Amino acid sequence: MEFLDGFMKIEINNFFLEFKTPFAIAHGTRSGTDLVFLKLEHENIIAHGEASLPPYLPDTQESVHKFVNAFFKVHTDLSEGLPSLLNTLMNFEEGNFAAKACVDIALHNWFAQKKGVPVWKMLGLNNSPLPLCTFTIGMDDKAGIKRKVAEAGEFKLLKIKLGGNNDREIITVIREVTDKPLCVDVNQGWHHDKEMALEMITWLKTQGVILVEQPLDKTDFEGQRWLHERSPLPIIADEAAQVLADVERLKDIYDGVNVKLMKCGGIGEGLKMIHEARKYNLKVLVGSMSESGLAISAAANLSSLADWVDLDGPLLTKNNPFDVVKYFDGKIVTSDK
Ligand code: MG
Repeated sequence: MEFLDGFMKIEINNFFLEFKTPFAIAHGTRSGTDLVFLKLEHENIIAHGEASLPPYLPDTQESVHKFVNAFFKVHTDLSEGLPSLLNTLMNFEEGNFAAKACVDIALHNWFAQKKGVPVWKMLGLNNSPLPLCTFTIGMDDKAGIKRKVAEAGEFKLLKIKLGGNNDREIITVIREVTDKPLCVDVNQGWHHDKEMALEMITWLKTQGVILVEQPLDKTDFEGQRWLHERSPLPIIADEAAQVLADVERLKDIYDGVNVKLMKCGGIGEGLKMIHEARKYNLKVLVGSMSESGLAISAAANLSSLADWVDLDGPLLTKNNPFDVVKYFDGKIVTSDK
């Protein structure tokens, strides 16, 4: 839909982002992800935003439309400035974090264009040195895993999805074809057994794994505390670390957090989450849902603050409508636009 009110014009469109191959993680398998794109036009500047809506998050395309329309019905004048608008956005209705991220990305995009600088520069950040970007290997059969490792090409860090019933087999297959360091994402898949999780992590360390993401259920604080005290590898919170307020709660039982724009509400909140994590000496992974190049490049603005980034989405999808992301030497190149 679209409306004009004298100040601003917005257009909201649904999109289904398709994976190159059906993507399997501990939550299940799916062929793609619902997105919503926002186009915002004001003072002849056209800015874009995106919400990604994987089925395990509460937002839907309908809820994003509703939120974005409601927000811009009230806030049609951008002259109050970005910080004030972002503050209003985060307090505009409960939840709706993917919808907030969609608006936040469009607003950052608009203000950066208005100033004539890239978003990272507007935020006072750098575009070098940048951390390594992971290349994701979804669950697959033996041949499929080997093929995906080959596709990783110049990427120097692989992200492996575990939490199924053949975890050791997957790692063993990967080790037959590459000695690259591995990040392991369990997506809560070892929730039933913290002792088994410790045994697995101890073995994974001998296999060149450098970190483990969300091994236990996001609500199992006691189990995670137990595991954290014994784990030989850093454990990164993903499902457990949704928003800014989660960071302080998790600071003593995890070693780091995975910051994703769609979970926390956008670039502004993501930046706050990173600063909060650093305050407690936590590691920072800047991650993503399945997103188009638009939301991925938005997250890439925060790259220089991260230890690692997981922003390979555009390489795993086949109908990405925003071909704006480039990779070089195993890193995501931060856009100048
Ligand atoms: Mg994860």
